[in-house]
Amino acid sequence: MSNNKESRRIFLKGSAALAGTGLMSAAISPAIAQEQGYVLNPPAITSMEVVGTSDRFPVRRVFCLGRNYRAHAIESGDNPDETPPFFFIKPRDAVVESRNGFPYPPMTNELRYEGEMVVALNSGGANISEADALSHVYAYGIGLDMTREDLQHEAQSLERPWAISKSFDNSAPCGPLYPVENHGHAIEGRIWLSVNGEIKQDSVLSLQRWSVSQGIAILSRHYELSAGDIIMTGTPEGIGLVEKGDVIRTGIDNLGEIEVRVI
Ligand code: MN
Repeated sequence: MSNNKESRRIFLKGSAALAGTGLMSAAISPAIAQEQGYVLNPPAITSMEVVGTSDRFPVRRVFCLGRNYRAHAIESGDNPDETPPFFFIKPRDAVVESRNGFPYPPMTNELRYEGEMVVALNSGGANISEADALSHVYAYGIGLDMTREDLQHEAQSLERPWAISKSFDNSAPCGPLYPVENHGHAIEGRIWLSVNGEIKQDSVLSLQRWSVSQGIAILSRHYELSAGDIIMTGTPEGIGLVEKGDVIRTGIDNLGEIEVRVI
C-alpha cells in the first residue's frame, strides 16, 4: 500500500513538472497506466505558474463570466440594465502558457482577443456568501478569453451554444498567478490590452458589473465550486480582431503584464 502511495506521489510530482511541456503522454508508458488501473494513460494535469514558487496550480475547471463590464455589454448589443451576466465554460486544457505564443486556430477568419482577470480558487463549496467569497481565492492572474468571432456570430444568429466559438484548443492563454498571501486581493486597479503597441482596451476592475465576490457567490449557486477552479472575470470594452504575427500585451495593476504572440 505504502509503495503504491509513494509511486503515485512521484507520478503526480512528475506530472506537475511536465505539465505544459507537451511531454506528458510521452512520459507515461502504457505499462504505468495499467499499473495504476487505467486502460489509457491518464490525461495530463493542466497547471499554471505561480509567482514566488516552482510549485504549480493544478486547474480543475475554467468558468468564464460574460458581459461583466457595462460598456462591453453595450458594444456587444446588450442592454446592461436588463440583461444579467452569464457563464460559460472552457475545457481545462484550454489553459496554456501565454509565453508560448498563441497558434491561430482553425475554422475561423475572425479571431478576437478579450483581456481578462483570472481568479484561482483553493477551496470552494455551494451557496458561498458574498462575505465569505474572497476567502476561497488563492491567487489572481491575467488571461485572454480568445474567441472565434465569426463562429460566435453564427451561433448567436442560429440561437445555438457558443462552445465552438469559445471553448476551442488553447483558447485561454494565461500568465502566472499572484498568490493573495503575498500580493493581496486584486479587486481594483487598471486593466488594459494593446495590440502591436496600440492600446485597445483600457478600464478599471471597479467597473465590473459583478465583483469577484459577487461572481463567486452567484457561480456557487449553480455549481459546487472546488479547489483548482478558475474564473475568467470578463472583458472590458474595446474588443477586436487579431491576425497571425500580431503581439497582444495585457496588464492589470499589481499583476504585471503578459505578452501573447499570435503565431
Ligand atoms: Mn470573455
